[in-house]
Amino acid sequence: MLSIWERNAFIQYDHIIIGSGIVGLSTAYYLKQKFPSQSVLILERGLLPTGASTRNAGFACMGSPSELLDDLSHRSEKEVVDLFRLRKNGLTRLSSILGHAAMGYKAEGSHELFFEEDTTVIDQLPYLNQLLRSEVESDAFVLRNEKIETFGLNKTKVKAMVENCCEGQIDTGLMIKNLILMVMSLGVEIKTGCPVKSFLDTGNGAEVVCLNSFAVDEIVFKSKTLTICTNGFATQLLPAMDVVPGRGQVLITKPIAGLKLKGIFHFHQGYYYCREYNCCVLIGGGRNTDFEKETTMELALNDNIQQNLVDQLRSFIIPNQEFDIDMQWSGIMAFGQSKRPIIQQHSEHIFIGVRMGGMGIAIGSEVGFQLANLIATAH
Ligand SMILES: Cc1cc2nc3c(=O)[nH]c(=O)nc-3n(C[C@H](O)[C@H](O)[C@H](O)COP(=O)(O)OP(=O)(O)OC[C@H]3O[C@@H](n4cnc5c(N)ncnc54)[C@H](O)[C@@H]3O)c2cc1C
Repeated sequence: MLSIWERNAFIQYDHIIIGSGIVGLSTAYYLKQKFPSQSVLILERGLLPTGASTRNAGFACMGSPSELLDDLSHRSEKEVVDLFRLRKNGLTRLSSILGHAAMGYKAEGSHELFFEEDTTVIDQLPYLNQLLRSEVESDAFVLRNEKIETFGLNKTKVKAMVENCCEGQIDTGLMIKNLILMVMSLGVEIKTGCPVKSFLDTGNGAEVVCLNSFAVDEIVFKSKTLTICTNGFATQLLPAMDVVPGRGQVLITKPIAGLKLKGIFHFHQGYYYCREYNCCVLIGGGRNTDFEKETTMELALNDNIQQNLVDQLRSFIIPNQEFDIDMQWSGIMAFGQSKRPIIQQHSEHIFIGVRMGGMGIAIGSEVGFQLANLIATAH
C-alpha cells in the first residue's frame, strides 16, 4: 500500500538499472552524461553491492601470456586482440571517470609465474608481443627471471617469470565507493536492499517488481528504460541467457613483517592470482580444481579450494614464512560460450549488460559506456 506522496515522488523514473556493480554504476554515469536532466535509479538487492565488484582481487587485467595463448588455442587472433582492446578501453574509461587516486590505481605492471610444466609459453612471447603491437607500443611481455628471488618467491618451484607492462592494481573497494559517490553527486538514486523479482516491457516503458522486506506488498517501479546489470545472477531474471555463474574464492593474510612480495601476480592460465595489499598477501582462484561446486550463485566458501590457496602460499609465494589468515570470502562471476560480454537490447525498453567473465573490473566501464549509447540510440 503506497501513499500518494510515495507514488508521486518515488516510483517513476526515466531510467532504471538493476545491479550496483561496476557495470550498473558505469551505465548510470554515462546515462547522466547523455541526459543530465533525466532521472536514473539503481536497484540493488544487497545493502552493499553483492556480486563480484567489491569481492574481487583488484587487478586491472588485460590477460596473462598463458591465458592469451589458451584463448588463442580455440579463438581467432582477431577475437583475442579485440578482447584485449576492450579491457584497455575499459580501464581508460574508468580512469577518466574517477582519476587514479580515487581508485587506488598503481600502474606498476604485473607478473606471471611459470613452473616446470609450463615454461614452453616463454618461447611464444615474441609471437604474443607482435600480435599485440597494434595495442601496445613496446613489448607487452618481458622475461624477468632475475626478479624471482627479489619478490621472495621459491626459486626451486618458480622456474620463470614474465613481466606484463599493461596491467595495474586497483583498490576495488575504494573504486566502487567513489563510483557510488560520483553517480550520486550527479543525481543518481540508489536503493539498496531491493531485490528485483520480475520485470515487464509494457510497450510504453518498463515495470520492475521489487520485494519490500518491511511490507507485505511488493513495490512496482516504472521507467522509460530498464537496464539489467546483474552479471552472475542474470539467469534469475533472464532464464534463457547464455550466462553461467562461476564462484571465485579469495583469502588474505594478516600483515607479514619483512614481506618481499610487491605488485600483482598470475599463474596457471589466470586461474590463480595473488598480490600484496597493505603488507598482507591476498590470493584467489582455484575454480578450475572444482568447476562443479564453483558453478553456483551461493556466496560461500569451498574448504578444499581455500586449503589449496593456503598450500600455494606455503609452497612458493611466501615459503618458510609464518602467516595467519585474516579474512576469506567469495564472489560470483559470469561466464558463457563466448568470452565477450553480452551488451544488447532485449526488447523495446529493456537492455542487458552481463557476462563479464573474470575481467569485469577492466571492461566494466566500457560496457557501461556502450550500454548508455545503445539506450540513447534507441530512445
Ligand atoms: C574472486 C574474484 C576475483 C576477480 N578478480 C578480478 C580482477 O582481478 N580483475 C577484473 O577485471 N575482474 C575480476 N573479477 C571479475 C569482476 O569482479 C567482475 O567481472 C565484475 O565485478 C562484474 O561487475 P558487474 O557489475 O557486471 O557485476 P556485479 O559486481 O556482480 O554486480 C551485479 C549486482 O547485481 C545485484 N543483483 C543481482 N540480482 C539482483 C536482483 N534480482 N535485484 C537487484 N540486484 C541484483 C548484485 O547484488 C550485484 O551487486 C573477479 C571476480 C571475483 C569474484
